[in-house]
Amino acid sequence: MSGTQRHGSSRYEVPEDAATHTCPYCDRPFRTERLRRLHVGLDHPELIDDDERDAFQDTYLDENEEIGLFRLKVLALLVLIYFSFLFVYLVVN
Ligand SMILES: [Zn+2]
Repeated sequence: MSGTQRHGSSRYEVPEDAATHTCPYCDRPFRTERLRRLHVGLDHPELIDDDERDAFQDTYLDENEEIGLFRLKVLALLVLIYFSFLFVYLVVN
């Protein structure tokens, strides 16, 4: 599918030559299979079979792990910035 697509109140611009992964239940386009799998599990949980549910759960857990790692990195960066400014303040004063 390509061109402009509408799903509910959302509108999607899909380039003509873009490869998309389309939801089998609502035809919404996704850039990656991982995003389509997360959408199917979150928006159509009553329609999916056991294999799709297992794939969704694995993808969901991987996503949570990635988010947790991202949060730790951001926290470490904020601590680094905070102490950098603190040391600069101590040196200047
Ligand atoms: Zn869908």
